[in-house]
Amino acid sequence: MESVDSTIQLIQIRERQGAETLTGTATCSTALAQGPWVFDAEAPSYGPGASMLDHLPSSAPQQKVLPEEYRKASPAELDLRIRAAKHALGERVVVLGHFYQRDEVIQYADFVGDSFQLAQAARTRSKAEAIVFCGVHFMAETADMLSRPDQAVILPNLAAGCSMADMADLDSVTECWEELEELLGTQPDAHGRVPVIPITYMNSSAALKGFCGEHGGVVCTSSNASTVLAWAFERGQRVLFFPDQHLGRNTGKAMGVPLTQMPMWNPRRAMGGTDVETLRNAKVILWHGFCSVHKRFSVAQIAEARAKYPDVRVIVHPECPMEVVDAADLAGSTDVINKAIAASPAGSTIAVGTEINLVRRLANQHPELNIFCLDPVICPCSTMYRIHPGYLAWVLEALERGEILNRITVPESVAIPARVALERMLSLKPAAK
Ligand code: SF4
Repeated sequence: MESVDSTIQLIQIRERQGAETLTGTATCSTALAQGPWVFDAEAPSYGPGASMLDHLPSSAPQQKVLPEEYRKASPAELDLRIRAAKHALGERVVVLGHFYQRDEVIQYADFVGDSFQLAQAARTRSKAEAIVFCGVHFMAETADMLSRPDQAVILPNLAAGCSMADMADLDSVTECWEELEELLGTQPDAHGRVPVIPITYMNSSAALKGFCGEHGGVVCTSSNASTVLAWAFERGQRVLFFPDQHLGRNTGKAMGVPLTQMPMWNPRRAMGGTDVETLRNAKVILWHGFCSVHKRFSVAQIAEARAKYPDVRVIVHPECPMEVVDAADLAGSTDVINKAIAASPAGSTIAVGTEINLVRRLANQHPELNIFCLDPVICPCSTMYRIHPGYLAWVLEALERGEILNRITVPESVAIPARVALERMLSLKPAAK
């Protein structure tokens, strides 16, 4: 099967020729076939792809235009240059590739995984002076906080943010927190439980992880969200969960929290768009954030897959809306999805609701299964898509010359409390089933 990049290029060529698009494939934007430096040089936005309509905050780092030699280089030339630079650097560099990264970049990764797995994997390479993170900004921040101070974490394209992470910033969360303190007080109840425990999803800025560390809170991943919520319910009357409303709602619902006790806090509305009574009664206060990639999946797509393949097994990520998770056969993190697919008997048909690059890769790795993406439109995560082999060649060749480009550094004043929140998470053991 073709990679996502090459499929989009084929669609673009056919559209240019006036031919019909490939059978059963369409893309949300043929502009994806251009190098991301085109979007970097134009309007500051996330660029084409699943997050293209999301608002890019003005504080988001901007990437300067990539030098021409990398923009003009052919895929074959970039391949040679990346391999040569990696070879010359040897153990001095480790390249990390997120599951949602394009195959054209993943092929150079020493480790492939989710953001937290990758940050931990980098720790096993003690000789690495540089950690090149082919993911998005918050992932590089986490890797920086968990690596040694003398190791440089590099994000090949600074414009590779995450629209979900950007939906909750420190100022709006602090404002919300102060309002909640005013409404709900700060004193523990008769059982010693404080009014609110903040929980931030791994997909958030280091500043928010630091906020949680400072306010008795914790970080969670999509793999351990229910363990983390259970920990928080022992210590707090309710939680404030940011930035992903869907992961919070899906996890709370699976733990038996009624929807009426999971109000949404919209930072753009007075009192979050809710009221005192609802907040007093709440167990999980959900931040108004979402992932534009996972928001694309729908119950109608599941119905279509079931009509076409009556034996299909539908597996979706918990960042999908609740109705989609409810209609699926299984919902879980990328790790759960990978394991469920690996355990499927040959001949199974599996529809997957997560980022297209991972789904395509799983389909390539498992020719004995019929795996397809629930979303018929090829629409990758536009922020992850900002990492292109051109940027990778640029940062690796600079390293070879002894120059560190695009280093992501989290100040210690933020990293210290953020590590507290991360350590709290790591100390938790999943509840026995
Ligand atoms: S897939 Fe969603 S959560 Fe992940 S980096 Fe892209 S926008 Fe962010």
